[in-house]
Amino acid sequence: MHIKSTTFVKSATKPANYPPAALPEIAFAGRSNVGKSSLINVLVNRKALVRTSSTPGRTQLLNFFDINGAFSLVDLPGYGFAKVPLAVKKEWGPMVRTYLERRESLRAVVVLFDIRRVPREEDLQLLDWLEELSVPTIPVITKIDKVSRGQRLKQIGPILEATGLDRDDFTLFSAPTREGMEEIWERVEAALEA
Ligand code: GDP
Repeated sequence: MHIKSTTFVKSATKPANYPPAALPEIAFAGRSNVGKSSLINVLVNRKALVRTSSTPGRTQLLNFFDINGAFSLVDLPGYGFAKVPLAVKKEWGPMVRTYLERRESLRAVVVLFDIRRVPREEDLQLLDWLEELSVPTIPVITKIDKVSRGQRLKQIGPILEATGLDRDDFTLFSAPTREGMEEIWERVEAALEA
């Protein structure tokens, strides 16, 4: 996709504050530090459209962006950051679950996994919700430049095992090399057109 404009629209925590669902929407989700901000910034070709979400104690928000006036991009709050206070941690589930249930314009969620980490409870919870609510899912494995090509398949074994997904369900991505960027765009565009 050729990016002509990227505009921050607003932040929200609850449906009453979401912007109007005027455009088809794609959301991005993943554990804090998984590389979500980096991936979004590479996709939209901006240095810092989104900032890293892993600031301890900060209120977690859904951040809505307009891309090209053609679709809406939502940066969902990262989860699993150890230093986030329990009260803030507890907000994540209801906030994200409500968004997934209520957002009529949502077309797909890009779910990120770090190639060096075994998925944990929140990752699997999120996948369960997406399946239950029939939200199309675009699974991506990030930071693939951190392991050698020969080690990739071995390294993603635990991710396949934990999620029950197949190798072909995942796009492999690296922010510094941009490998996988085109494939993610193709999957996003297909979801927008579906
Ligand atoms: P977020 O918390 O999910 O938004 O994660 P960030 O995008 O802020 O990335 C967390 C850290 O991982 C930062 O230090 C990034 O530079 C680094 N990072 C993100 N993506 C990649 C990647 O594909 N490869 C490598 N080597 N590092 C990455």
